[in-house]
Amino acid sequence: MHEYDLLVVGSANADLVVHVDQRPAAGETVLGSDLAIHPGGKGANQAAAAARLGARTTLLARVGNDAYGRMLSQAQRAAGADTTGLLEGEDAPTGVALITVDAAGDNSIVVSSGANARLTPEDVTEARRLFEAATVVSLQLEIPRETVEAAAHTAAASGARVVLNPSPPAPLPGSVLAVCDPLVVNEHEARRLLEDPADGRVDGRVDDRATGRPEEWAEALLERGPRSVVVTLGAEGALVATPGSAAVRVPSPSVTAVDTTGAGDAFTGALGWRLGRGDGLVDAVRYAVRVGSFAVTRAGAQESYPGAEEFEKFSG
Ligand code: ATP
Repeated sequence: MHEYDLLVVGSANADLVVHVDQRPAAGETVLGSDLAIHPGGKGANQAAAAARLGARTTLLARVGNDAYGRMLSQAQRAAGADTTGLLEGEDAPTGVALITVDAAGDNSIVVSSGANARLTPEDVTEARRLFEAATVVSLQLEIPRETVEAAAHTAAASGARVVLNPSPPAPLPGSVLAVCDPLVVNEHEARRLLEDPADGRVDGRVDDRATGRPEEWAEALLERGPRSVVVTLGAEGALVATPGSAAVRVPSPSVTAVDTTGAGDAFTGALGWRLGRGDGLVDAVRYAVRVGSFAVTRAGAQESYPGAEEFEKFSG
């Protein structure tokens, strides 16, 4: 058995949140609420979600030698994740997301990548032991593209299963897509990937299935080479597609949504863990959908993720 169910390779950010009546226009200054600081970043969120549920989880990420870096490290430990792969650099501050939320609940976000942009392919090579010790490796795109590629190839060479959420969406080389099992996209990411001609596309034209139904997006994405595709559909749950089989819809439980921040990361972290435990893809998605739904019932990202006991109660 591997030492870790899940290795997450990705970003760690401090989310700095201010609530305002109206978000400022160009040149305008507005007064807002007290500043709230939360641990965030897609990589750190996924690792925290899996670890809180009981997964043996480790995170390969980079933070600065500063208070936000220490907060993120502490949040991982509190969730129960291993932090040997959480690297601290002197040359860049911890990544931050500057978030303003207005009275209607709409937000504007500026991300300063900071140390996340310094997570290099060499860091992946040096962390090879973590890849060899993990059953599943989960990737997103908030770190340099060449680092994602190195991580995907290192994971595949180590025999780990690769889960990849292309967020923020960007075309991926065929060699990376080929090892994704699954590629996990939300509605926006699915459309964006299909609208951008990707590497390996024969005709290079926009795929008109981007305007179709989620089943069509999944089919079109499968043609780009991943071994499987999962499309998350918000309140409607998710859809699982594998080559040669009809797509399977997995409905979400009906909940009162309070805050959807980080729901996608809760979903993907939980999915990676269940695949690492040996669940089949549809069973793992059933579990992940329930975790995503739990996460929307509470405010925040990592703060909204369930521990194993409360999740069991929620699931009945
Ligand atoms: P986010 O960007 O808000 O973190 P996302 O857009 O990446 O999320 P979604 O498809 O919105 O991903 O949601 C992921 C999962 O969270 C869904 O598959 C579902 O399980 C759950 N979820 C999201 N919104 C709701 C909702 N309103 N009610 C129930 N479950 C939800």
